[in-house]
Amino acid sequence: MARTIGVLAMEHLAVGVVEDNRIAGAIHVFPEKGGDADSLRDVPGDEIADIIRREVRLVSQGADPAALGVGVPGVILDGVIAESPNLQQLKGLALQTTLSAAFPGAAVRILNDADTIAAGIAATRGELDRLVRVWTLGTGIGYGRYPEGPGMGEGGHMVVTLDPKERYCGCGGVGHLEGIMGHRAMRLRFLDLEPEEIFENARQGDERCRDFVKLWHRALAGATATSIHFDGPGKFYITGPNAKFVDTPLLNLYLQEMVKMSPLQGSFLEVLETSDAIAIIGAAVSAARSSARAGSS
Ligand SMILES: [Zn+2]
Repeated sequence: MARTIGVLAMEHLAVGVVEDNRIAGAIHVFPEKGGDADSLRDVPGDEIADIIRREVRLVSQGADPAALGVGVPGVILDGVIAESPNLQQLKGLALQTTLSAAFPGAAVRILNDADTIAAGIAATRGELDRLVRVWTLGTGIGYGRYPEGPGMGEGGHMVVTLDPKERYCGCGGVGHLEGIMGHRAMRLRFLDLEPEEIFENARQGDERCRDFVKLWHRALAGATATSIHFDGPGKFYITGPNAKFVDTPLLNLYLQEMVKMSPLQGSFLEVLETSDAIAIIGAAVSAARSSARAGSS
C-alpha cells in the first residue's frame, strides 16, 4: 500500500511513515546522532533537497508515497521556499517541484514548520475540527495554525513594540516579536549572558533581567492578543526549546489585560512539549488532507 510520509527539515532532518495519525515504524534522522556533522546548518540547499529525496525513498521502501508533506522554516509560496532567515541556504529552493519530479505518484506538500506542528497537535489531540494555533520558541519564533490560513504565516515577526531601538530580529525588522523572544535575539541583547542565565538571574531578583522577562512575556501576550483580534479566541499552544522559560499564569494575566471585548475572551495558552514525531505527523496529515480535497473537487 502506498504510504503517507512526513518530513521535518530544520537543523536536522526527521522522516517517518504516518498511519492513522501515528508514526508507523522508526523515525529516520539525518545527520545521524554521533556522526561527523551535527546539523544541516552548513549543508547547501540543493544538497538538503537531495538528502530529503534519499531519506524519503529509504522510508517508503521503493514505492512512491501517496502523500508527502515537508515542514521547513520560512515563507512558503507555491511550494517554493521564498525566505528562510534561520536556514538561509533554503531561500529560492523549489522543493515541491523537485520532490514531485522524484515522486510522480505522490501528492507533495511543502509547509511552514510551525504549521506542521499545529497540524500535528490537532491530529494527535483529536482537534482537527477546530482552530489550533501554536508558538514555537527557539532560535527564531514560529507561528503555526491549523487549518492553515491564507497569507504568509510569519506571525513570529509581528510588531509588538514601537521602540525603534528594538532591532534584534533575525530578519532585520524593527520591533518584532522574534527580536525580543528569539534565542539569537536574547543573546544579542545580553552579550554577557546566555538566555538560561537571564531567566535565572530574574528569579534571583536582578532588575535588568526581571524587566526583560516581563517584556518577554508581554511580547508573547501582545502577539497572541493580535492573533485573537484577527482570528478570534481559542487555544494556543507554546512549544520549542525555550517554552521552558514560559510562566503560564503570568502570560495569561497579561493576555487578559490585552483582550477586553467579551466575544474575544476565553482564549487559553498551554505549554506543550512536542517532538519531531508531532511535526512529521502534521506534515503527513496536511499533505494527505490536501490531496483528498483536491481529489474530491
Ligand atoms: Zn523579524
